[in-house]
Amino acid sequence: GLFMGRFDWGAIHPFPLQSTEDRDQGDAFLERLSTFLHEKVDPDEIDRTGEIPPDVIEELARMGAFGIKVPPAYGGLGLSQTNYCRAATLLGSWCANLAALLSAHQSIGVPQPLILFGTEEQKRRYLPRVAKGEISAFALTESSVGSDPAKMETHAEPTADGSAFVLNGEKLWCTNGTKAGVIVVMARTPSMMVNGRPRNQITAFVVETGWPGVEIVHRCRFMGLKALYNAVIRFKDVRVPRENILLGEGKGLRVALVTLNTGRLTLPAACAGLAKRCLDISRRWASSREQWGQPIGRHAAIADKLARMATAIFAMESMAFAAASQVDRDKKADIRIEAAMAKMWGSEAAWEIINEAMQIRGGRGYETVESLRARGEEPVPVERFLRDARINTIFEGSSEIMRLFLAREALDPHLKVAAPVLDSRLPLGKRIVPALQAGLLYAGWYLRLLLPTGPGPRVNPLLRPHLKYARRTSRRLARTLFHSMLRHGPKLERQQLLLGRLVEIGTELWLMSTSLSRAQTLLDRGEAGDDLLTLVDCLCHQARTRIETGFLAHRRNADRCGYRLSRGLLGGRIKTVPDRA
Ligand SMILES: Cc1cc2nc3c(=O)[nH]c(=O)nc-3n(C[C@H](O)[C@H](O)[C@H](O)COP(=O)(O)OP(=O)(O)OC[C@H]3O[C@@H](n4cnc5c(N)ncnc54)[C@H](O)[C@@H]3O)c2cc1C
Repeated sequence: GLFMGRFDWGAIHPFPLQSTEDRDQGDAFLERLSTFLHEKVDPDEIDRTGEIPPDVIEELARMGAFGIKVPPAYGGLGLSQTNYCRAATLLGSWCANLAALLSAHQSIGVPQPLILFGTEEQKRRYLPRVAKGEISAFALTESSVGSDPAKMETHAEPTADGSAFVLNGEKLWCTNGTKAGVIVVMARTPSMMVNGRPRNQITAFVVETGWPGVEIVHRCRFMGLKALYNAVIRFKDVRVPRENILLGEGKGLRVALVTLNTGRLTLPAACAGLAKRCLDISRRWASSREQWGQPIGRHAAIADKLARMATAIFAMESMAFAAASQVDRDKKADIRIEAAMAKMWGSEAAWEIINEAMQIRGGRGYETVESLRARGEEPVPVERFLRDARINTIFEGSSEIMRLFLAREALDPHLKVAAPVLDSRLPLGKRIVPALQAGLLYAGWYLRLLLPTGPGPRVNPLLRPHLKYARRTSRRLARTLFHSMLRHGPKLERQQLLLGRLVEIGTELWLMSTSLSRAQTLLDRGEAGDDLLTLVDCLCHQARTRIETGFLAHRRNADRCGYRLSRGLLGGRIKTVPDRA
């Protein structure tokens, strides 16, 4: 709606705060998890050795951490998405390796697609196993298949009697792969004929790693997440029973997309945890470290970093928990846009926060914990945080792909109206009626975008101007998108930088809206006061500055000359960058 100029305050206000009952259900588990992490898990040791001690995994399994959302009927804790996100925040604040282990297992591994799409028989067979601690994984990526699954090579052919499929291929970077007992594997299955043309099919299978033909070829190692059990897995003539297909033959992409939508909420929740930890470290250091006669936090450049951290954390949580509560109301809720925005913005903001925490800690931020400890200083692991967090803008949908995805969603309502008009393959006669219909529709729509927004909902006077701004600006965003469509026509889809900026503006408006709603709801309930008002006022001012910068860059930018230069560089024509100084 934001991209169409429809700012629906009623849809996000009052903010869906977690109910006391749901919170109580999560608290017992979260307290146990928190005590265990702080008393028994040494994240620096896990980072140093590259291994998670087996007794840590066993204890996590005992407390139900592998089946947080799995219904009790299948041996899980049956907690809500909101409580699951709270657990991710806690894990993210303590140990990224554990967060990745548990998240790959149940955000994208076997439990999530089984809960969503599994048959009763599949659920009975696998959910109790994975809830008890049998580790699972998700295998989509291949050497030539990164962000774009179209060229998938792993394939599965039906056996002569049709009772099974024979799986062949190799998957790359499968998190938990070296330890998993069960994996969701995406594979091509024979094409289907649709209107006389073959249509590629991708199917999701539950594959057990103990079956003949499954081989762990290599454990991948990375810059951070040193204890990630990430594998290259080869499948050689693996016989997979037909009943292990998820949702249906050819429905694999739907399984992957829907699973990833909800799965994507875990990452911003974990990022919020890490960001909170960084703020805590930065605040302590900025008030105790004195340079030039005063604590460094009093110098405006450092003070600004602290303020940005605090506001970003509130925004991250508001976006992630608003979407989580939607899932709690309806497991199959369409949270495509909300999850993508939360993932894109949350992972980028977290990266910035860690970078700034390192800056605030100065040389100590760059120093390893071992070295700090050896010198008798507090072993603050900002260096580890930075290494561990870098991957967040790459996996589970890279930032570039999230922008593309959101841009397509933003354009979708327009394309539905304009597609027949712009389709040059259709004869002119067939385009006239849709053109007239589109013209009429757009005339009314555009006029409405120009009307005054009216008095607006009643909120705290400090927040009111921000809410008015958000309503007004969503119309401005819709107009700008529309003008861009008129200017670029069907080629607009290829204008990645232009669309990326508009997507960023839309995301800023969304984070303003969810944060305003959350703040107002907390104020109404008497659970917050002036401190929160100060924070959200600042959050909105910062977001508005970014939005205005975005609109400015929409009008004046270096996109074209940058693209031209890049083309020259890619083709090897331009060699102005000297090889030698
Ligand atoms: C530590 C780690 C864990 C992982 N875990 C798993 C897992 O459990 N299961 C699994 O299946 N996969 C996993 N992956 C794979 C991960 O999801 C991919 O790395 C990711 O999808 C990107 O694919 P790629 O690295 O091949 O990059 P590519 O797709 O080759 O992209 C390279 C760069 O180009 C950009 N790009 C690509 N297409 C476009 C476009 N159309 N427009 C603009 N920019 C574009 C990308 O954003 C990226 O910046 C993992 C990867 C890592 C490193």
